Amino acid sequence: MADALEQLKERLAEITDLGKVGRLLSWDQQTMMPLAGTGHRADQMATVYRLAHERFTAPAVGRLLEELRPLEESLDPDSDDAALIGVVRRDYEKAVNVPSSLRAAMTRAAAEARPVWVKAKAESDFASFLPSLERIVELKLEYVDCVADGAAERYDVLLDDYEPQTTTAEVRTLFEELKPPLVELIAELRQRDVDDSFLHADFPPERQRGLAHEVIDLFGHRPDSWRIDPTEHPFASGPGRDDIRITTNYHPDSLESLFSTMHEYGHGLYNHQLPQHLERLPTGQSCSLGIHESQSRLWENLVGRSLPFWRFFYPRLQVTYPEVFARVDLERFHAGIRTAKPGLIRIQADEVTYGMHVMLRFELEQDIVEGRVALRDLPQRWNEKMWDYLGVEVPDDGHGVLQDVHWSGGSIGYFSTYLIGTVASVQIWEAACRDVPDLEDQVGRGEFAPLREWLGEHVHALGRKFSPQETLRRATGSSLAAQPYLDYLRSTYA
Ligand SMILES: [Zn+2]
Repeated sequence: MADALEQLKERLAEITDLGKVGRLLSWDQQTMMPLAGTGHRADQMATVYRLAHERFTAPAVGRLLEELRPLEESLDPDSDDAALIGVVRRDYEKAVNVPSSLRAAMTRAAAEARPVWVKAKAESDFASFLPSLERIVELKLEYVDCVADGAAERYDVLLDDYEPQTTTAEVRTLFEELKPPLVELIAELRQRDVDDSFLHADFPPERQRGLAHEVIDLFGHRPDSWRIDPTEHPFASGPGRDDIRITTNYHPDSLESLFSTMHEYGHGLYNHQLPQHLERLPTGQSCSLGIHESQSRLWENLVGRSLPFWRFFYPRLQVTYPEVFARVDLERFHAGIRTAKPGLIRIQADEVTYGMHVMLRFELEQDIVEGRVALRDLPQRWNEKMWDYLGVEVPDDGHGVLQDVHWSGGSIGYFSTYLIGTVASVQIWEAACRDVPDLEDQVGRGEFAPLREWLGEHVHALGRKFSPQETLRRATGSSLAAQPYLDYLRSTYA
């Protein structure tokens, strides 16, 4: 039986490697690759993911899992091996229903759609993106048909790919709890007039680049293991613990890249501190996108927008852009970065309005999957919801339905994890503050090692051994809850 476990691990190590190669190809496509290389890349990615899928869904894996059942039952459920067999069994039972030709077609369609989306977004031309989107949705629905057996709702299948063992109904309940207090707070803050004009100035990108590197080094990491590169839509990736690739987008007229760099640092640190001894196994990967997002939002907001942090870092910003900040004092600056104002773009949204952007997408995606909206009508639906939820008029599709990269990449079912993670980030931060009593003072002194280590021990080290809910429970002592997040927003913004 030990032999069966070794055989399974050997196979999983190869499959994990293939997945990481795929990630590297995707990172390269989004940062370095010349545009004309799209065709080659679509072939290569389709091949890599098809091979991984075939290797994983081979009958031999099913036989090994069957053979390992008695061992799994005899082991401590918290042990690495029991968790591994459980996680792999669940993945296998889902993946085995998906033909490898469909897996390859989905990968190819996404790689081909990417440049079409980039151009359509730049030209605000939804019609030119529509055929790519239709192809992606058609394949997604085919995928849902393959694996929906037993799911209460079709959307559950897609959500589960990003937030395992979480149902649409659970997310809906959480969001329904968040929506009324958020709408109320947004209306209340709308009356306020905070001067944040200094955040819309001339910020030469070369200096933004210096700041991004400075922040990453300040927050901390092992040497020679991180890269930051520019891209259209920032993300974090990388093929291993000691090869972390984060990306950002240096806008010459805003400091957005600074906050997005702190955000991607949180993602990067998670990958950087995953359990080394499980590195080439599914259980050594990140738990879910929601848990991933809790890490990025924690560094971006709980650390990166806090007064203690800026007491420490504001002099550095003033030295970098004296022409903008020399005459803006810390209190004014801090009030400026804590302004809540409804806007068009999700990734630029403040902490208060952010949730509404996510809910809009969560609802539209369910409409797509359930066939309640024709894809050509998406821009109109989008614009109506933006008006209803945020009172914002969408001027064109580039600032509306085309703004996010996700659908072009075939990621449908992904968006709710942003809000799940944002909600969880407050619970995790509060747990860290309980365990490390002078955490805020440390942040004010620019000392981040204790926070890094706490996150490493309580979140990152668990890898993917447990479900997201169980991971959060182990890290914080409680399950996902709206109230701490709502209390935090009220106390920091109202
Ligand atoms: Zn993120």
